[in-house]
Amino acid sequence: QAKSNGRNCYYVFNEQMSSDLANRLQLEAELRLAISQQQFSLNLQPKVNLRSGQLTGFEALLRWQHPLRGMVGPDEFISVLEQAQLIVDVGYWVFERCCQLSNELAEMGLPHVVIALNLSADQFLQPGLPERFRQLMQQYNVSGQQFELELTESTLVSHVSQTLDIMHQLKALGFSFAIDDFGTGYSSLNYLKRMPVDTIKIDKSFVLGMLDNPSDYQIIVSTIAMVQKLGLQVVAEGVENYQQLQLLQQHHCDLVQGFYFSRPLPEAQLAAFVSQVTQNKWPAQLLR
Ligand code: C2E
Ligand code: MG
Ligand code: MG
Ligand code: MG
Repeated sequence: QAKSNGRNCYYVFNEQMSSDLANRLQLEAELRLAISQQQFSLNLQPKVNLRSGQLTGFEALLRWQHPLRGMVGPDEFISVLEQAQLIVDVGYWVFERCCQLSNELAEMGLPHVVIALNLSADQFLQPGLPERFRQLMQQYNVSGQQFELELTESTLVSHVSQTLDIMHQLKALGFSFAIDDFGTGYSSLNYLKRMPVDTIKIDKSFVLGMLDNPSDYQIIVSTIAMVQKLGLQVVAEGVENYQQLQLLQQHHCDLVQGFYFSRPLPEAQLAAFVSQVTQNKWPAQLLR
């Protein structure tokens, strides 16, 4: 039912909304518990360099082992973590786990792979983030060169001067930067020349459509060309089949990532995967 409040202004409040709110509060409470009970984990999805035909690194993707609902993906809870201002703490947990994983991968025989992690805007703008990252790296004896930070276009355009300052501090620690989901945000090309960005990740929606939709295909081809003319690296995310890979190879895309190569791997599957890589059995056959 709608409650009127002046002429053109009324509040709508119905059962659907109250249950949405109840759901969100329930989810928020469960997430607080998840933090204290360590129900989070990271899955790692490999990235392949098409020039060398080698694994170059992994992207760390957050997972939540819910006590009743099983494994839950970040699209279902990242926005709640952000709204509840829990993303900062979870983000530090993610980076700490990435430091540990970097050391574990080195012990497994992959000392030079880069681990990419995703950062929300609020987390990135959190005062003290570069210093906290520096302390964690010191604690685990790892360096910024081992990590890439994935930011979205909206993070970059929201607080430009603050963002630039933080990026320069993190650059000084050795981190590199990737723009995630490129082409789906504000698509302001201005920041590409102003910000110390190393890599552009073409959003998977374009890759998904590239075989059937001429616009998606042209966007991919011209983005690859533009990014390389700017002297940056380009990644295609969401590569699901060999036909997509072939076209990306023809257009000299630098890096690829997607289910065709590997799903994001649970930590328990990492050792077996790495042994395939160190024996040069992966990804050779997939590239043909
Ligand atoms: P993203 O960073 O753009 O990550 C790519 C998403 O696409 C991942 O979903 C991945 O599992 C999925 N994906 C990878 N290859 C393919 C493919 O070939 N086909 C299709 N259809 N999908 C593919 P996921 O893991 O559900 O993550 C969703 C989003 O959640 C991520 O998008 C990222 O924005 C966010 N996220 C993940 N982990 C974190 C985190 O630790 N912190 C923050 N702030 N955000 C995170
Ligand atoms: Mg990402
Ligand atoms: Mg993406
Ligand atoms: Mg995304």
